Amino acid sequence: MAPITGALHSVYAKPDGGSDMPGRLLVVDDLPETRALVSRKLSEAYFDIVEAASGEEALRIAGSQEIDLVVLDILLPGIDGFETCRRLRRNPDTQHIPVVMLSELLQNAQKIEGLESGADDVVSKPCDYAALVTRIKSLTRMKMVMDELRLRHACHPCLPPAPGRVEYTDASILLICPEEAGRIGIRAALTPHLDAIFEEAADAGMLEHRLRHGNYDAFVIWGLEEGMDAIHIASQLRARPETRHAALMLVFGDEELDHAHMALDMGIADYVTDPPDFEELAARLKVQLRRKFYSDQLRISVESSMTLAVTDPLTGLMNRRHVNDRLQAMQDRYSPEGRGIAAMILDLDHFKEVNDTWGHPAGDAVLKEFARRLSHSLRGADLVARLGGEEFLVIMPGIPPQDVQKVAERLRNAIQRDDFALCCSQSIEVTVSIGVAIHNRGEAVSDLLVRADRALYSAKHAGRNTVTLSAA
Ligand code: GH3
Ligand code: MG
Ligand code: MG
Repeated sequence: MAPITGALHSVYAKPDGGSDMPGRLLVVDDLPETRALVSRKLSEAYFDIVEAASGEEALRIAGSQEIDLVVLDILLPGIDGFETCRRLRRNPDTQHIPVVMLSELLQNAQKIEGLESGADDVVSKPCDYAALVTRIKSLTRMKMVMDELRLRHACHPCLPPAPGRVEYTDASILLICPEEAGRIGIRAALTPHLDAIFEEAADAGMLEHRLRHGNYDAFVIWGLEEGMDAIHIASQLRARPETRHAALMLVFGDEELDHAHMALDMGIADYVTDPPDFEELAARLKVQLRRKFYSDQLRISVESSMTLAVTDPLTGLMNRRHVNDRLQAMQDRYSPEGRGIAAMILDLDHFKEVNDTWGHPAGDAVLKEFARRLSHSLRGADLVARLGGEEFLVIMPGIPPQDVQKVAERLRNAIQRDDFALCCSQSIEVTVSIGVAIHNRGEAVSDLLVRADRALYSAKHAGRNTVTLSAA
């Protein structure tokens, strides 16, 4: 599985490079002067700007053009910002576009309504544009990662359409806060608002213990003192494979807002200021949890599609297409050190008769059992693939040449020794012919396989149920 996750990680490694990519923002405000000011400030940060003067116009543009983020005023003629946001979220074509609401004289209740209507952030005007730009960059980077996953999902022939919005349920959240009173306070305040189970960590040791044993969707980090730096913890959580996709929510004091911007730049999901408004904190956590559950679902189906692409569905062994890439990598790794690679091609004897006598499903059962015995008789480092039909390939890296024939004989025997069970308490004897070749220094892998295949041909001619070793 290693190359699969490796390939996928390259996607997640992208956000850093993503900051150079200009995003296209839709700025929605009914007042021309405000719209011009916001647009100017954001275009100074190299964003491409499209403008709309109403919610209706914004919906039209977002539905017909490629938009990376919407900056949305709340007070608008016609449908207001909340309703515009709800409609963006209901439309499958626009539901993934991040939304930042921007409004004057925001009350807490409005902030919460904004988040509940689907905004990723709600910011008061006049705002700190540097902070707004940081926030927008972090959201557009997140969208790019998500777009890439959705694209992979859409391009894969074996997958159903990508899921729309996903509701989070039964989230597990770790509260990291040194003060017991603080932890009890957050927990009591968040519980009524969130469908979640909470656990707590008071110090670095306990955090480590929790991470070893638990599996968390979100972390809330609050009130850290010396020896436990919030940014440091957040960056460690980002670096660990089991927590890198979790939502991170920080609570910062007013004097620490520079840190907050740095945190957003590093991919921290969101933050609130200390002392937190718990209802707002809960609403922000919900936004992050939905996003996390959504991307988990996409990622899992993309990963399983990649597994499908490299495995043979009947036997679960590697398929022919994938084996070529692996072979090249093996040759590069082993040949220079002078250690050997050996290849075997195995072909079931008279397999057509199994199908003809017992039917195709019985033939399939034999192939599965054959693959199982093969895998069980080999070491973890050996590579086993189904080349097609009743033909299999085994590659043994680092095997001493004098052992190769012994291993092949052991495999041949593992197939013949015990009869294969079919359905209805029937069982049959199955045998296999094996052609073996040991890699010569400097030889191309394709030539190695050609020699193994010729040896197999000789084994068949020699009467089957036989191992034949190719001359070097
Ligand atoms: P030999 O000893 O010379 O190898 O004879 P054989 O009968 O094994 O070889 P042949 O190539 O004549 O027949 C292979 C058979 O394998 C024919 C094909 O229908 C069957 N086969 C190929 N793939 C599958 C499969 O996925 N399931 C089943 N049940 N049969 C398969
Ligand atoms: Mg055969
Ligand atoms: Mg055959």
